[in-house]
Amino acid sequence: MPTQREQNIIEEFQRRRTRMMHSFGFCILLIILGLFILQVIDNRPVFLGISLPAWKSFAAVQLVLGVVMAVRGYWQYRCPVCEEIVKGHDKYYFGVLTDPERCPSCRSKLRE
Ligand SMILES: [Zn+2]
Repeated sequence: MPTQREQNIIEEFQRRRTRMMHSFGFCILLIILGLFILQVIDNRPVFLGISLPAWKSFAAVQLVLGVVMAVRGYWQYRCPVCEEIVKGHDKYYFGVLTDPERCPSCRSKLRE
């Protein structure tokens, strides 16, 4: 049985993990949408009554927003004890461990 303190650490870490997964998911969605728009407008000077430069800047904003989301999600994905980003060498996913049992730097328990 984990102690109350361990339990709090696990819960806090799982919250950060969910936030990281959502950010990455949302990032991929935004980038796909941005690329899709670029693809669709490629051969049309005006699409849905909106001019090409407007679409292009819209798509660019989507791409930038996607990257910002991913970075934010990554940046907060830290061990609640030592505040180190949970990086791993196996099971790569943007260089972070997606489901670590213990923190790689301080060995705190992060999963039940
Ligand atoms: Zn740690």
